[in-house]
Amino acid sequence: MYFCDIHTHSLLSPDSSAPLADMARRAVSLGLDELCVTDHCDLVDGMGRPVTHFDWPAAREQFHRVQAQVGGQLLLRLGLELGSAVYDPATARWILKEGAPQLDFVLGSLHNWLGERDHIDLYYTDFTGNPDLARHCVEHCLRHTWTLVKDCPDCYDSLAHIIYPLRYIQRDGISLTLDGYEEPVRTIFTQIARTGHALEVNTCRGRNLAEWLPLLRWFRECGGEYVTLGSDAHRPQDLGKGLREAAALLSQAGFRYVTTYERRKPVPHLI
Ligand SMILES: [Zn+2]
Ligand SMILES: [Zn+2]
Repeated sequence: MYFCDIHTHSLLSPDSSAPLADMARRAVSLGLDELCVTDHCDLVDGMGRPVTHFDWPAAREQFHRVQAQVGGQLLLRLGLELGSAVYDPATARWILKEGAPQLDFVLGSLHNWLGERDHIDLYYTDFTGNPDLARHCVEHCLRHTWTLVKDCPDCYDSLAHIIYPLRYIQRDGISLTLDGYEEPVRTIFTQIARTGHALEVNTCRGRNLAEWLPLLRWFRECGGEYVTLGSDAHRPQDLGKGLREAAALLSQAGFRYVTTYERRKPVPHLI
């Protein structure tokens, strides 16, 4: 199996303190074939303030320094987790242009309420005892995700963690899945497939696995071809967690390849 983790963070993300060198050393010791660092660039930060900049010089410096250290033992790629591109597509495109041509991979994600609740990260919302709010949140996220895949196909390569709202909804004791949202999810998946993009299976450091199988089956039925795998590790010890199991789910759902990206072009590898 091609062992790749292409959703990971380093100290250039506000919620990580891991030097990329430590992540890469851990990747080598785990026997990873490929590691892509995808630091956060959210166009609205956790507290809902607009962001118009990503520190590409620091990202490039760190990437090239570590690549020189581990080259030959590990294929290292430079990616970006671009959050809330639909909030400000012009800035999103400018940031991506600044990152090219070195940029290999862009995860399109959504962490925030957009246009509601002061645009804060869903992490800060307490869903306890409020299933109506939980359902509203899922619908809100699916609506903005549809806008991303329909209007901003150039702002992502793989759709990151479509189950993100469920992380906090389930944290707060409400049992909700995407089972009841088959129609809007399939609409999104059909658009992803039609435009040659990828869906990410995000294991959330090995915690989320079973809920991906029905989603992968829908994606396959919608014509999906490319799937990327990521642990979303923010610390070296979380790298690679759940990815072998995720690759097995891919096979079960009928996929023969796991996909990585080079200069924003998909590279399929036999599972
Ligand atoms: Zn994320
Ligand atoms: Zn992430």
